[in-house]
Amino acid sequence: MDCLFCKILQKEIPAGIIYEDDQVIAFNDINPQAPFHALVIPRRHIATLNDISTQDREVVGHMVMVAARLAEEQGFATEGYRTVLNCNNHGGQTVYHIHLHILGGKAMGWPPY
Ligand code: IMP
Repeated sequence: MDCLFCKILQKEIPAGIIYEDDQVIAFNDINPQAPFHALVIPRRHIATLNDISTQDREVVGHMVMVAARLAEEQGFATEGYRTVLNCNNHGGQTVYHIHLHILGGKAMGWPPY
């Protein structure tokens, strides 16, 4: 399968991995939009949020838990941070393996025009 994030998972493409376990990995975004910008991805290839099913309930919940834990470790949990999961073209998705963005270390605006 020609998926960039599966290649990162297989360690075929290098990435700044900051967390991994049996369900997910997290790595630094190559084009950070905040002082801290990382992505949490499931080991199982799921193309978009539209493709999740009940069997993915645990891993998707785990992605959110890992994001919160990383924010705590990074020291910006109390001040706050942003998590984003883009879906398809209008959502701004460019890599078709679901990924939860974690952005922190600065105040962010809303809405995201
Ligand atoms: P999307 O627009 O929500 O699909 O986000 C894709 C993200 O993947 C973007 O923030 C990119 O900067 C990031 N990205 C693309 N290629 C790589 C890579 O090789 N390593 C780490 N991050 C990447």
